[in-house]
Amino acid sequence: MKCETPSASGVLYLVATPIGNLGDLGFRAVEVLKAVALIACEDTRHSRPLLDHYGIDRPLVALHEHNENKMSARLIERLLAGESVGLVSDAGTPLINDPGYPLVRQAREAGIRISPIPGPCALIAALSASGLPGHRFAFEGFPPRKSAARRTFFKALLAETRTQIFYEASHRVEETLRDAALVFPATRRLVIGRELTKRYETLVSTTVGEAPGLLAADPEMRLGEFVLLIEGATDRLETEALTPEQARILGLLLRDHSVKSAVNLTVEITGARRDAVYREALRLSSGGPEAGEPESAY
Ligand code: SAM
Repeated sequence: MKCETPSASGVLYLVATPIGNLGDLGFRAVEVLKAVALIACEDTRHSRPLLDHYGIDRPLVALHEHNENKMSARLIERLLAGESVGLVSDAGTPLINDPGYPLVRQAREAGIRISPIPGPCALIAALSASGLPGHRFAFEGFPPRKSAARRTFFKALLAETRTQIFYEASHRVEETLRDAALVFPATRRLVIGRELTKRYETLVSTTVGEAPGLLAADPEMRLGEFVLLIEGATDRLETEALTPEQARILGLLLRDHSVKSAVNLTVEITGARRDAVYREALRLSSGGPEAGEPESAY
């Protein structure tokens, strides 16, 4: 491992920028961005107005997902030649679902000093205001775009006990919440962070079961940028509880079948755990397990 900083090399500053409110660029961020030899940003047209607002006139170069490897190598050359570079993304903290990873890797391998200038980050802003536990959390980025892959992705997180955080685009947020409701227990707490730090900032505390209806009922709630937070699993029974879709299928089958065959069919159709299906069947059909009938009968 290389630890030494080449004596003549510059510093790579990772500078967090606002996630919507221009006033959120930090004091030190401004000072650093004014002092560096050049600023690498995702889109020069996007970053220029922010930099102009603060009187920052350093040259800009574009570093985005399509030129990252080539541009990173060029920036490393300039850093090694003694120039300091600021890296910003369109919004928030660089590398958090944004470009910069190859540059930081290569800079570390070259022994170049890297210094973070912390500031806005949508997931942290949402988590801090969510009312969900913030001492342990799992940031999962953007869920897959296709519904089947998304459900599989959520299923893999079902037993996760940490608060789960997702980014989502406005044109997918409604269907993503619908898929979440097919997988997670309906009672799990869910928080929607929308347009944080902006004019229409909204933080709604709801549940997995109710969230899709909230968006369906209010077109405004489907606009803007989103962070979704889902409470972690709290206990064994809860992680094994039926999803709303599984419970719906069971309820339909109970109309025309005995408890035993409705349970068997639900397990076969949905793949849900037999003991959880049985518990729910008893609850739906008689209000609770009958005396002398052990759950293990199924
Ligand atoms: N690097 C950024 C950060 O530190 O948060 C995240 C970049 S990622 C490409 C953009 C996503 O972050 C958006 O699609 C949205 O899910 C989330 N996001 C960014 N700004 C937001 C805001 N003001 N309110 C809610 N979510 C936001």
